[in-house]
Amino acid sequence: MNSELFISENISTKYAVVVLPIAIRKNYTYAIPSNLLEKIKFGVRVEVSFGKNKLYAGIVKEIIDEAPNYKTKTIISVLDAEAIITSKQMKLWEWMSEYYCCSLGEIMYASLPSGLKLASETRVVLAPFYNENLDGQHLNDNEYLIAEALTLQHELKIEDIKKILNRKTIYPIIKKMLEKKIIFLFEELQEKYKVKTISCIQLKEPYLSDSTQLKKAFDLTQRSVKQQEALLALIQLNQKQKIIKKQDIYNLTQADSTVLKALEKKGIVELYKKEVSRLNGYEEDVTDAGELSKQQVTAIAEIEEKFKEKEVVLLHGVTGSGKTRVYIELMKKAIERGEQILYLLPEIALTTQIVHRLQKIFGNKIAVYHSRMNNNERVELWHAARKNKPILLGARSCMFLPFNRLKLIIVDEEHDPSFKQNDPAPRYNARDTAVFMSYLYQAKVILGTATPSLESYKNVVEKKYDVVYMKERFGGLELPEIIIADMKEASKKRLMKSHFTPTLLEELEAALERGEQAIIFQNRRGYSPSLICKSCGWKSECIHCDVSLTFHKYSNNLRCHYCGYREKIVEECPACANPHLDLKGFGTEKIEDELQVFFPNASIARMDWDTVKGKKSLAQLINNFEEKRIDILVGTQMVTKGLDFDNVGIVGILSADHLMCFPDFRANERAFQLMLQVSGRAGRKHKQGKVVIQTYQIQHPIIQEVLENNFTSFFKREISERKSFKYPPFKRMIKITLKHKKRNTVQQAAEYFGNELKIKYKKNIIGPAEPAIPRVRSFYLQDIIIKLDKNARQIQEVKNLIYQIQVSLHKTKGFSNVRIIIDVDPY
Ligand SMILES: [Zn+2]
Ligand SMILES: [Zn+2]
Repeated sequence: MNSELFISENISTKYAVVVLPIAIRKNYTYAIPSNLLEKIKFGVRVEVSFGKNKLYAGIVKEIIDEAPNYKTKTIISVLDAEAIITSKQMKLWEWMSEYYCCSLGEIMYASLPSGLKLASETRVVLAPFYNENLDGQHLNDNEYLIAEALTLQHELKIEDIKKILNRKTIYPIIKKMLEKKIIFLFEELQEKYKVKTISCIQLKEPYLSDSTQLKKAFDLTQRSVKQQEALLALIQLNQKQKIIKKQDIYNLTQADSTVLKALEKKGIVELYKKEVSRLNGYEEDVTDAGELSKQQVTAIAEIEEKFKEKEVVLLHGVTGSGKTRVYIELMKKAIERGEQILYLLPEIALTTQIVHRLQKIFGNKIAVYHSRMNNNERVELWHAARKNKPILLGARSCMFLPFNRLKLIIVDEEHDPSFKQNDPAPRYNARDTAVFMSYLYQAKVILGTATPSLESYKNVVEKKYDVVYMKERFGGLELPEIIIADMKEASKKRLMKSHFTPTLLEELEAALERGEQAIIFQNRRGYSPSLICKSCGWKSECIHCDVSLTFHKYSNNLRCHYCGYREKIVEECPACANPHLDLKGFGTEKIEDELQVFFPNASIARMDWDTVKGKKSLAQLINNFEEKRIDILVGTQMVTKGLDFDNVGIVGILSADHLMCFPDFRANERAFQLMLQVSGRAGRKHKQGKVVIQTYQIQHPIIQEVLENNFTSFFKREISERKSFKYPPFKRMIKITLKHKKRNTVQQAAEYFGNELKIKYKKNIIGPAEPAIPRVRSFYLQDIIIKLDKNARQIQEVKNLIYQIQVSLHKTKGFSNVRIIIDVDPY
């Protein structure tokens, strides 16, 4: 190979430690050839070979003088003139890698936009730590086939994929998989990113600044009507806008490019290309943020005061208290000081309303980072962050951008579980990482919420964070009236109509009659979560996972919500041929159907992942509801997040019991948060709204606490339970999941793993045990939970032990391909 030649001929005495985008927890050192010595510095990407014949673009972490004790390979080329990451980013990566037990490469892979990763048009490889169990990344059949083939063959040519799928057009599939980070393209170096330009036109001097000269221009063009038309249009546009696109002229006149070229030849106009940003340029006029209420003024002053002492302030404001307006004011002040702001939201797709509101105020000072951006846009955003774009707004991955002057981090809806990334690695919590970033950047953090997480509030109680309260709703509105509907009683008296209590139906009817809108919350999508045969007990089950298939009526099929597997609906029981199959349970689709029967004249819509898949459909749905074209909106927890409507008379929660009975120590906390958040959608601008909560357990403490909007009592009770049962936030948890296609193998491996841990930490280990869903995507699972005191030294010891056991397990015969997932602070 060429690199061998390199080594013998012109090697320097320096070495570079390089981070590679792989899941191995180790950095590799490469020799630096003399001719590249000048160019290689911290943060630039270099092309290196790894293993037998893989090529990677790695990032230089360090330059050292000493050779490692193994035979080094040589760096092949340098990709950047300047560092693409900052030293603070590298510190963040190192912290995350230590804390969340993953490799620097995995963080690098998650951080960099694909446009900055190595690319090729001809070979495809599986993402280095692609994981079949990717939450929310349901593979369709084609994607699954490719992924499966790649696990076996490591890399495939486009030609091979064509054969596997037996179809001509495969680029859209590949592109989709690239976007989902399941695969990437690979071969030789090639910068994908290109600057985007638009073709523009402008009057030349003297015509531009001296309008009296224009007559001359018209004289020059008098033989061509089209040229005169174009010229006239240009003059008119020139009065309104600075930049005139050629396209603008084409739109207004008959002119084409030959006409414009003729004008250029005559020296009347200048044609030029302008570099434009792909970032959503906000073109409407910016507006004023609006008056501040007395409560908001006080809150701002308090936050500023408390920031003098503390890095983190929790802004605990009831729903509708106007927290966003507080953030806006603090952001304005930060921008005046030349600072950068990172604004984190739970899920960007669900928060179009707030994004739009902020854009209206900050115009182009704000850049939005979202999953639907293409690679080029991501690269531009990356550079914009580096060049001090004032506000960077996005979901959790936005925190990986290269900031220069970051001084304020806002974590909006800090309680939201989507700040935690479950899969793939890094399995980090963005809220907690934001707190680390405050030390790294000397920045301040605001955690905003109406329903603080136990973790954050405990930190307030222990004076690690400070707190500011906003107890009133904006504009003096009252919090919604909460009505508990007793399902036990209603069913005893046979008053239930399907899933509805008379209370909920009456309140709904009354609200509709008053011309108000309604939101119905049911935390389960689809029609029915299972199809069963009552005569033989057969159940519709996924072939890859141990879960029942959900019936989706609209698409008339059965679907697995874990792996995306789909099946046609069966007409009769496949086991006993019984033609009468029963649907058990209910999801949003069924509720939508039934409501239509009770309220035939109402217009009803549904908001869940099935209805908002298209790029625009969610925005359209929200818009239709805002414009009152929808009377009743049925939705999953999507309806609890950040939506702000002004005509919702009633909110119905169909089954509080479903929320409270999850086998998870956070179930009560989640139930409390969800119920209060969805209640917060009721009422708003003009008058008090109502909330009807249906439950079989009216005496349940959570129900009572929601009824009284009593966070204090909820916190006291819940925190003492966590304490006595030794759960977070009192203990730290590390979850180890083992995966294998054979049940026996994974059981034995988990036993081995558990026993090794128990030698020293017997008291701290729970399991190994099969999780509630023992098989997902054809892999059998075993979980081991480790509970530890908050003792940094011990936690580090345990992490080291986990790595050691992992290595020895993989060396053990039969266990080499057992997958191990380490999740620190699991959710
Ligand atoms: Zn049957
Ligand atoms: Zn499945």
